[in-house]
Amino acid sequence: MLPVNGLFEMPVLPYEELGKTISKETLSFHHGKHLKAYVDNLNKLLPGSGLEGLPLAEVVRKAEGGMFNNAGQVLNHAMYFEQFSNTPKPISTRMKTLLEQAFGSMESFQKEFEQKGATLFGSGWVWLSADAQGKLVITQQKNAENPVTMGLTPLLTFDVWEHAYYLDYQNRRADYLTALWQIVDWSVVENRM
Ligand code: MN
Repeated sequence: MLPVNGLFEMPVLPYEELGKTISKETLSFHHGKHLKAYVDNLNKLLPGSGLEGLPLAEVVRKAEGGMFNNAGQVLNHAMYFEQFSNTPKPISTRMKTLLEQAFGSMESFQKEFEQKGATLFGSGWVWLSADAQGKLVITQQKNAENPVTMGLTPLLTFDVWEHAYYLDYQNRRADYLTALWQIVDWSVVENRM
């Protein structure tokens, strides 16, 4: 994502709703309020930072402190909202084979991904990424962290900040994580490789 006239724009939601998996109310707070605040804060911090004009992932790699937190959260949320659909494309044979090579089976990949999301203490994100050799890895990242800072290519992420699920699932983070598979659009995920 590149800034336009020096400012990052609000990532557009590619849908108006996601059925029961993520309610309209959650979307309106999560996208309309939480993400909006991160975008506004990032744009306030950019002028004079020395990072003006860089692509967002580059800002995340170079920024520190509040700038890192807001840039990271803009990148994380842009990827999170973009990867869902009401008419999700199924996983390709190629991607399924890569996941089977790394995790044994599709089921064990999903189980490990959910488990790492459920056991992340506090706020953060669980990520599927590709390393420099193309091997797939799952990482737990705290707060605003993104795997780009570890030299990985991020592919898929589930937000486990409470604001992502509390209105719909209350304290049942594991149920929210299980439900998200229904709306993951694998064509979006695979295009990130
Ligand atoms: Mn969030």
